[in-house]
Amino acid sequence: MEVVVIGARIAGLSVAFQVTKCLPFINVTVVAETFGFSTTSFNCGGLWKPYHVGDTSPALVSRWVQVSLRHFMEVYHGEDAAGVQQITGYQLCRDPGCEVPHWHNICLSFATLNETNLRIMGIPKNF
Ligand SMILES: Cc1cc2nc3c(=O)[nH]c(=O)nc-3n(C[C@H](O)[C@H](O)[C@H](O)COP(=O)(O)OP(=O)(O)OC[C@H]3O[C@@H](n4cnc5c(N)ncnc54)[C@H](O)[C@@H]3O)c2cc1C
Repeated sequence: MEVVVIGARIAGLSVAFQVTKCLPFINVTVVAETFGFSTTSFNCGGLWKPYHVGDTSPALVSRWVQVSLRHFMEVYHGEDAAGVQQITGYQLCRDPGCEVPHWHNICLSFATLNETNLRIMGIPKNF
């Protein structure tokens, strides 16, 4: 049996990789118009962030985000150069009564900011 995958970036190569891994006896051919810089995947970023989906329990969301974060950090720190860079982003809540989210201890750096922190970070008061 032969499998032909159209597209040679994140979607296509992931499919090709998984088929090769799960069914090593099958020939996989990747066909694509371009393999290089002009693809979306070459220039994209991924945003890791815990959030809720419908009635999914916080415990399940926490488990999912822990597993995905661990995986991304393994890729980032892995021995095989994946060409991945880690860039920190911020999600700010201005409401002083804002509840501490259940995933606060999963994030790499969760913090309550004061006026000095905001000034140092260059975040205006009325963000
Ligand atoms: C700045 C940025 C941030 C992003 N952030 C996120 C994010 O946080 N989370 C998220 O899920 N997504 C995000 N995305 C979107 C995500 O990156 C894309 O959806 C994903 O990279 C698309 O991958 P792909 O393999 O489907 O397509 P591409 O990377 O575009 O690859 C398409 C492949 O198919 C080939 N191809 C196309 N048409 C043909 C054809 N007719 N014949 C032969 N070959 C063909 C191309 O040559 C190429 O090899 C982001 C994108 C950008 C640009």
